[in-house]
Amino acid sequence: MVVVFGLVLVFGLAAVVAAAVAAVGWRRRRQAPVFGALALFAAGVVVWAVSDVLNLLVTDPGPLLLWGSVLFPSEAAVVIGFFCLTSAVMDRTWRPSRRTAALLAVEPVTVLVLLGTNPWHHLFFAGVERVGWQGELVLQLGPLYWVHVAYGYMLVLAGLVRVLRARRAAPRGQRRIYTWTVGTALPPLAVNLVGLPLENQIADLTSVGFVLSVIIAYRMVAHPTLPEQIPVARQQVFDTLADAVVVVDGSGRILDHNAAARELVRRIRPDLAGRISGSPVTEVFGPDVPMTEDSVADRILAGAGGGVVDLHLRTSPLRDRRDRCIGWALTAHDITEANRLRRQVEEANVLLREQVVRDALTGLYNRRHLTDTLPALLTRSLEAETPLSLAVVDIDHFKKVNDTYGHACGDAVLIRVAQLLATGVRYDDLVARLGGEEFVIVLPGASPEAAVARLERLRELVADARTRTAGHELQVTVSIGVTAFTGAQSSTELLEAADEALYEAKRLGRNRIEQAVRPAAARRTA
Ligand code: GH3
Ligand code: MG
Ligand code: MG
Repeated sequence: MVVVFGLVLVFGLAAVVAAAVAAVGWRRRRQAPVFGALALFAAGVVVWAVSDVLNLLVTDPGPLLLWGSVLFPSEAAVVIGFFCLTSAVMDRTWRPSRRTAALLAVEPVTVLVLLGTNPWHHLFFAGVERVGWQGELVLQLGPLYWVHVAYGYMLVLAGLVRVLRARRAAPRGQRRIYTWTVGTALPPLAVNLVGLPLENQIADLTSVGFVLSVIIAYRMVAHPTLPEQIPVARQQVFDTLADAVVVVDGSGRILDHNAAARELVRRIRPDLAGRISGSPVTEVFGPDVPMTEDSVADRILAGAGGGVVDLHLRTSPLRDRRDRCIGWALTAHDITEANRLRRQVEEANVLLREQVVRDALTGLYNRRHLTDTLPALLTRSLEAETPLSLAVVDIDHFKKVNDTYGHACGDAVLIRVAQLLATGVRYDDLVARLGGEEFVIVLPGASPEAAVARLERLRELVADARTRTAGHELQVTVSIGVTAFTGAQSSTELLEAADEALYEAKRLGRNRIEQAVRPAAARRTA
């Protein structure tokens, strides 16, 4: 009687502890699926232990059968809870899919149906006999019960095998969680092994073993110092990285990859149809993937649909505990967009720089560019001791063009004359629009005679040309004033001298060239 009382106490205590863990697991079930699994696991143990208490106290066969109907499904809850626990430990984000949930539910539902129909077939348990240790009632188990037990062991074993596999694959620092999970299954196994020879000699203490499991599992999932989050967190960080990362073995085959890598491979190698693991890394990232110590390289790869993908690749060696290189981690940062933006900015800058120095109407250099560059041209001429000539070109009676044909026609003439000047000069010459219908031509290297000869050809070129615009055919001439650089004038003085010569050309009848009579500086001192 004392023994029975003691056992009732043990089972009762087991039920209370398991209930406490079940409650905690249930409360924290939203934090992580592992707590939900723990709750299911512990709840099964509660029912199991309570039914053990009933078994000891009940002396009537009727309630005992009822006890059996509760016990067997609770056993199923325990093994299913354990199985879910192993899944949730291996992957913190794990949730049973509908399919998994349905598959896991098949056995307990079958057990319930078989229990309900047991009076007709007696296959689950044959009856109740008074054969217990102290003459208490014991269920006589049928063949289907043993099928149920075998299924339970199989499920526990399947969970353990998966955990052991994950443990073997995990880095050393992350194995503890798996060791703990395996440890969870040990107490009930130990209890069963010890209890096997004592079958029918003493009450079945499996539920007490499972309470120990529940405590271990609780410590494992709730203990903040256990690095159980690490593998999962690492996996999640790995998968949420924006950069594609692939792990490559020593022979250059891809072992692992993250979500970004899958997305990238879908773009650059759609023909691989997502078969990344096992593929040679060169097949994905090109034949010259850098596989040396921490190397970086930029690659432009053809993307699907004719686009290109610019990648910045970084390779880092992976080392084992003895510091041997066992593979590589290849990180691919997509710089396509960054490169596109950079090119856009560069192009915009070039355009902007051009816009600053160009005249909007004619596309010639503007006055600003002329005044910016002329001093340097003069200095160069001085240093190289080569001559330099400067001419001011002005369209004759241009106001008449505007007045007769309109401003738009005037613009067309300006553009045409600008074209003639720009294409008629030499490569080294500088043609700028000073403003209005006035242009400047700088002729580095040209002596006064050579300059006059070349400008004469330009004058003729303009005079012979016709501008067809708005149904009119316009003809204009230009007058030109030219001066030679003596080495003593400033650029302003040079421009003034040429302007004076131009005035002279106008005065003498237009469509002609006049040379500055005397060098500007000389005239000023005269
Ligand atoms: P001259 O032979 O003495 O040089 O006579 P001109 O009529 O060419 O000289 P004037 O300086 O009197 O007239 C220049 C005209 O050029 C006046 C102005 O309206 C016109 N003009 C200046 N800039 C532009 C422009 O960008 N487009 C057009 N269509 N006309 C312009
Ligand atoms: Mg004019
Ligand atoms: Mg003018």
